[in-house]
Amino acid sequence: MWSRWKLLNLSRRFVNYKPWRWRSNAACDRALEYKVGDKIHGFTVSQVTPIPDLFLVAVKLGHDSTGAKYLHVAREDANNLFSVQFRTTPMDSTGVPHILEHTVLCGSQKYPCRDPFFKMLNRSLATFMNAFTASDYTLYPFSTQNSKDFQNLLSVYLDAVFFPCLRELDFWQEGWRLEHENPSDPQTSLIFKGVVFNEMKGVFTDNERIFSQSLQNQLLPDHTYSVVSGGNPLDIPDLSWEQLKQFHATHYHPSNARFFTYGNLPLEQHLRQIHEEALNKFQKIEPNTAVPAQKLWERPREYHVMCGPDKFATDPTKQTTIGVSFLLPDITDIFESFTLNLLSSLLIDGPNSPFYKALIESGLGTDFSPDVGYNGCTREAFFSVGLQGIADKHVETVKQIITKTIDDVIEKGFEDDRVEALLQKIEIQMKHQSTSFGLALSSYIASCWNHEGDPIELLNLGNQVTHFRKCLKENPNFLQEKVKQYFKNNQHRLTLSMNPDEKYYEKQVQMETEKLKQKVDSLSMTEKLHIYEKGLELQDLQSKPQDATCLPALKVSDIEPTISHTELDTALAAGEIPVQYCAQPTNGVVYFRAFSNLNTLPEELRPYVPLFCSVLTKMGCGIYDYREQAQQIELKTGGMSASPHVIPDDSDLDMYEQGVLFSSLCLDRNLSDMMHLWSEIFNNPHFEDEEYFKVLVKMSAQELSNGIPNSGHLYASVRASRTLSPAGDLLETFNGMDQVRLMKRVAEMSDIKPILRKLPRIKKHLLNCDNMRCSVNAAPQQISQAGKEVENFIKSLGRSKKERKSVRPHVIEKPVDGNLLNGPQMTRKLITDPTFKPCQMKTHFILPFPVNYVGEGVRTVPYTHPDYARLKILAHLMTAKFLHTEIREKGGAYGGGAKLSSNGIFTFYSYRDPNSIQTLQSFEKAVNWAKSGKFTETDIEEAKLSVFSVVDAPVAPSDKGMDRFLHGLSHEMKQAHREQLFGVNHEQLISVSNKYLRIGQSTRGLAILGPENMNIDKDPSWVIR
Ligand SMILES: [Zn+2]
Repeated sequence: MWSRWKLLNLSRRFVNYKPWRWRSNAACDRALEYKVGDKIHGFTVSQVTPIPDLFLVAVKLGHDSTGAKYLHVAREDANNLFSVQFRTTPMDSTGVPHILEHTVLCGSQKYPCRDPFFKMLNRSLATFMNAFTASDYTLYPFSTQNSKDFQNLLSVYLDAVFFPCLRELDFWQEGWRLEHENPSDPQTSLIFKGVVFNEMKGVFTDNERIFSQSLQNQLLPDHTYSVVSGGNPLDIPDLSWEQLKQFHATHYHPSNARFFTYGNLPLEQHLRQIHEEALNKFQKIEPNTAVPAQKLWERPREYHVMCGPDKFATDPTKQTTIGVSFLLPDITDIFESFTLNLLSSLLIDGPNSPFYKALIESGLGTDFSPDVGYNGCTREAFFSVGLQGIADKHVETVKQIITKTIDDVIEKGFEDDRVEALLQKIEIQMKHQSTSFGLALSSYIASCWNHEGDPIELLNLGNQVTHFRKCLKENPNFLQEKVKQYFKNNQHRLTLSMNPDEKYYEKQVQMETEKLKQKVDSLSMTEKLHIYEKGLELQDLQSKPQDATCLPALKVSDIEPTISHTELDTALAAGEIPVQYCAQPTNGVVYFRAFSNLNTLPEELRPYVPLFCSVLTKMGCGIYDYREQAQQIELKTGGMSASPHVIPDDSDLDMYEQGVLFSSLCLDRNLSDMMHLWSEIFNNPHFEDEEYFKVLVKMSAQELSNGIPNSGHLYASVRASRTLSPAGDLLETFNGMDQVRLMKRVAEMSDIKPILRKLPRIKKHLLNCDNMRCSVNAAPQQISQAGKEVENFIKSLGRSKKERKSVRPHVIEKPVDGNLLNGPQMTRKLITDPTFKPCQMKTHFILPFPVNYVGEGVRTVPYTHPDYARLKILAHLMTAKFLHTEIREKGGAYGGGAKLSSNGIFTFYSYRDPNSIQTLQSFEKAVNWAKSGKFTETDIEEAKLSVFSVVDAPVAPSDKGMDRFLHGLSHEMKQAHREQLFGVNHEQLISVSNKYLRIGQSTRGLAILGPENMNIDKDPSWVIR
């Protein structure tokens, strides 16, 4: 995987924390006993700092003989995390750090089997395993709740990064190679293959990535940031195996490494294992990987870049992107970075920010340019602002607006309320708890630590907030002066523009062809023969049964046989609306949700529900216009949103619930204000401001269109299941390509009034308490207060005067818990369609990408059916033991596999795939493989482990009880499902393969998103869109 990590953006996703107040804090107490100078297993403690705001103790150490750096964060959290990070600073775009990241995971001295990393996915209960290549470091993190598992994974990770095999064939498979199109036929032409090669071709189908990449390359042009660390597809074939090994030797050394551990497991154990299994085999070196400071420019620069055409652009004549970026100070200056990050939020976040008002509301473009705001993933940070979806002729206007906005801010400053709202937001984001706190911390500190910044100081957010308040108090012009210094008077400024070129992909293909010709022409006969033989060797290796017994593994018997119980209460508000209460250690935050069904909504309004949801909390309500409403939401809450849902029934595939989920969170002290806001939004939402509505529509449409390259496999899967169940069609309407196309059409309309007029009509059917249920997750002592607030909210809601009839005649009321003994009943109203007949459908969406996304859906059984658990294990088994090899290793796709969705559709998919028809054949082969039963008891055991690592993934206090609230799943149903999973055996797996997946046995749907395809064109059974 390749990513450009952002410093956790204060305004979007912030670190979260969780003090389990009623439990002991043994992890922190233990860590506090360390003293500076303590020697432990080759390491020396250099700092011990408690950070009470985040309920953690940070311990910094150094490894004596290699200089390896180490940070341990002790915290009473069982989801322990490890990561190791190397500073990788390439000086060319061959993608060497990225290919290395892939290749070290292909086998190591102690674990020489092929692909131990992927194999561990099935031998562990890891809650997270991955690897990332950023611009200047490579990070290998994992997390798990099981201590034996932690040791196992640590051993595999250490061996992988420090003692990888780096075999030539691994390099060929993961990096790039020349190979015959059909490896067994030397008459077929030679082409480029390789996982990273194809991955990067896929990455650059995303125009936002092209923009971000050139932005970084051009703004920081003097050293490692001028190249593509992930690899430029045309440069990748210049990398040799020798160069790869050399890069490993100099960069993956303890002297260039930073280790991070997090959680409640004891530190000594980690240190001992890391010292004994890796570090004591090395001597200190001077890695010379530091990135020098960027030399500052004397005058601003401009640059232009081309990209592919956007098939879903709302207006084809408006496809230009422009951004102005300013270089900021070194990210190791922690307080300055904190200030500039905050300042950036004030400048661009939400409808009250100056750049939103000046740029977004100008109507010149569809949305901000990519990477807008503060970027702290490079040694010097930068701030970027601009627009996408503008007409070429407006480039100058946009530049002028940016300059003028900066001048205005310097003159007028910011409203106190906005600064306060932002600081409030930091507080709530610190208190809100996620289940991946360790991972969030690891990525939060990675960039700063990478350049020798102090990670502990970075974690001490409370200090930074206090310091910031002090600066503001002492100097009311504090922020304005920063704007003047870093924006107005900054000569290191880049104006980057980007245009689509109709022939962009054609030219890319042409350049690749030339590169290929060059490579092939230079080959001697012997070399050609060698390539053919290597191709056969690789194919042979990939087809061989694999022995993974050298790897450590958990056993199914290590899995908890029963699930832990979540205490839930139900009460009626205003005498009739069921409210589910879940008391949790939420750390001073209340989570309120409501679900309202769409059963009375006329058919023709249904496609507009997603749009309704996306604008509902943004257009103003009651006495607040949209700006004031945004301000209130920022000041009083951690967010309020609405989203459409299609929820499958647990026992009947032809039944489902349709509705909208309203979600929100706030600090305990603000609950009454937040519920007042909900009440105003439900009773008096504003749907009048046509201009602002247009702005929001354009942003939504642009966002959907930009999301396709990253989520193409999801769109293909949704489309493939469209005709397989009654819910499938609605899912496509809400979340599929149909929605993308609808939004494009709406955004193109010159008169948007007819759409705007639909919103109050949807409101009538949705925003009342006729068909509602609510849920509250809060600290135990807050529940009764929360109950009163919810009661007031419900009482404020209208009821429809006349009894509304459901549009669909077949509505079935179903109690959530079949036989609840105490408390009132919570019921769900499900839709059923007894006349529904599933049918086959094949759709090809032609997109101008060089890669495909393939989806195939097969209708099977619902959640409570005993075969459901069997199919679920089968999907994991097929992915790990067959499809991964076929689609990724042999086919060269970035990913592919099978999964069973909660709606009972068994889905095969591939992601960024150079093939399409061949992949469909692989799906078929996978079924034959499953039917043949050529898998072992160990394979089944492994599939069970990988299923349980998902089933038992930690659930945040804010999300406890949601299975029951949304899906109606009771504790008993989940336990029964768990037992069915444990019980799955060999014979059953063969049987369900035959029963459901055999061609001709069940109805299936197919969908491909990708370039034009001759074979599909010729086949009349495909619908081309
Ligand atoms: Zn990758």
